[in-house]
Amino acid sequence: MDNCLFCKIVEGSIPSTVVAETGRVLAFEDINPAAPTHVLIVPKEHVADSAADLTPERGDLIAEIIGVAQGIARDRGLDDGWRLVTNVGPGAGQTVFHLHFHLMGGWNRTSGL
Ligand code: 5GP
Ligand code: ZN
Repeated sequence: MDNCLFCKIVEGSIPSTVVAETGRVLAFEDINPAAPTHVLIVPKEHVADSAADLTPERGDLIAEIIGVAQGIARDRGLDDGWRLVTNVGPGAGQTVFHLHFHLMGGWNRTSGL
């Protein structure tokens, strides 16, 4: 999609530090990390602006995204736990309108969001 930051990262016209990749999914380091591990996991295709636009036929793709998150968590040794977050809409803090998931971990959080 034109003028989409994450589409440009997927196509390589904007550089990123790639962490993992499958046929349909790319994972790269967040440029402004909010945790010791903060990786963004995106579908390569611009299938939705956010989770609000997802439909059940994307189930396989979402499972692939979760599989990528599991693999990164294993590789990074996030044995204490990790978080997979997707923001929907500006009111939730969404700034890039290409579906993405934040994989965060490496801190010791005991409670709360
Ligand atoms: P959102 O706020 O939409 O849920 O998440 C967007 C994320 O993209 C933010 O955590 C922000 O730091 C990250 N981000 C913004 N611009 C870039 C960029 O050019 N490269 C990378 N790797 N991450 C970015
Ligand atoms: Zn896009």
